[in-house]
Amino acid sequence: MSVCVHPDYLGHAVSEQPRVPEYVERLKSYIPGKSIATVAQEFGLAEDKIIKLASNENPLGMSPLARAAVREAVESDLNLYPDPDAALLKTTLADYYGISPEWLTIGNGSSEILELAARAFVERGDSIIFSEYSFASYKLVSQAVGARDICIPAKDFGHDLEAILDGIKIDTKLIFIANPNNPTGTFLSGPELYDFLLRVPSNIVVVLDEAYTEYLSAEERYDSIAWTQEFPNLLVARTFSKAYGLAGLRVGYSIGQPSLTNYLNRIRPVFNVSTVSQAAATASVKDSAFIAEVATLNRLGKTQLYKGFQNLGLLYLPSRANFVLLHVGDAARINRELLQRGIIVRPVQNYGLSDWLRISVGLEEQNACFLGALKEIL
Ligand SMILES: *Cc1c(COP(=O)(O)O)cnc(C)c1O
Repeated sequence: MSVCVHPDYLGHAVSEQPRVPEYVERLKSYIPGKSIATVAQEFGLAEDKIIKLASNENPLGMSPLARAAVREAVESDLNLYPDPDAALLKTTLADYYGISPEWLTIGNGSSEILELAARAFVERGDSIIFSEYSFASYKLVSQAVGARDICIPAKDFGHDLEAILDGIKIDTKLIFIANPNNPTGTFLSGPELYDFLLRVPSNIVVVLDEAYTEYLSAEERYDSIAWTQEFPNLLVARTFSKAYGLAGLRVGYSIGQPSLTNYLNRIRPVFNVSTVSQAAATASVKDSAFIAEVATLNRLGKTQLYKGFQNLGLLYLPSRANFVLLHVGDAARINRELLQRGIIVRPVQNYGLSDWLRISVGLEEQNACFLGALKEIL
C-alpha cells in the first residue's frame, strides 16, 4: 500500500491530533434550555403534561398565515435549493419598513446575524464589547473569531451605556447591545440609545439586537430602523423566533446600510434559510393582528406572574420582554423540583445569576400551573 506524504511532512510526526486554534479550544458551547423530549425521558413524564417556559418561545405558536404558507411550501418543490437571496422575504420586509432590499441580510435565526457580524468586522485579537448579564451568544460569537471579549459590568441588571463608551479600546470593532435585554428584561429608552450612537466612534459597528422589540408598548417604541439612515455603523437585528413564533424554522434578519450588509451577505452561507422558512416568515410579516394578540397575551401573562411572585414574597425584575427574571435563592434545587413536576424554566447560573430563574411567559393556565408548583416547592 502506498501512502502519499507531502514533502513538507517528511521526517515529521504525522500521528498528531488535528490542532484547533487556542480560542476554539477555550470555547464552551451554549447551554440551551432542556427540551420537552429530554425532560420526559429523564423524569419519566408524558410529553403532553410538560410545560416549557424556558426559551422565550411563543405559547400561541405561529400565525395562521405562516402555518398555511408552511403547508403550501411543503407541497412545493423542496428538491430544489431555496432562493439564495430570499428575494420575496426581502421585498416584503423592505415594503414593511419602507427601505430598500439591499439594506437587509437574512440569517438562519438572528443568531447567525450576530455571527456574521463578528466574522465580517472583527479580526483575531480585536476586541468586542458587550454587557454583563446580556445575551450569552455574544461571548461565544466573540470567542469563536478569536476576539478579546470586553464584558462591561451591568448597572441595575441592564446595560451601562456610559461604562460601555468608557470601555472602548483602540482595537474595538464591534459592540453588542440587546434591547430589551435577555435574560434580564431590562430596557434602554430610544433617547438613551440615540445619544449613545452619537458618541460611538463611527468605525465601530454597533449591533442593536432587538429580538423582543414586538413586545414593547407603543410608548416605549423608538425608530431604530430610521437611525440606520443616519448611522453607517448601525446594524439592527430582529428575529422571527420570538413574537412571530417561528423559532423552529430559524429566520432572523438585520437592517443596515449596504456598506455593512454587503459584507454580511458576502460571507453568509449561500442557502442559509430554507424554502419553508422563507415562506413562513414572508407570510408572517403581514400578520400584524397576530403580533398584537401575542403582545396582549404577554402583557396579561406578565401581570399574572408578577402578582403570583408578589403573593409569594419573591423579588423579580419587571420585564419589557416575554420572560421574567425571578429571584428564588437556591435556583438549582428549585429548578430540579420544577423539572420533577414537568415544568421547564431556565437556570441562569451561566450568566452568574445562580439565585435566579428566567421564566418565559406562557398561556394563562401554564403560568398558573407554574405558580402553583412554585408555591408547593417553596
Ligand atoms: C432569542 C434571541 C436571539 C435570536 O434568536 P434566533 O432564534 O437565532 O433568531 C437573539 N438575541 C437575543 C437577545 C435573543 O434572546
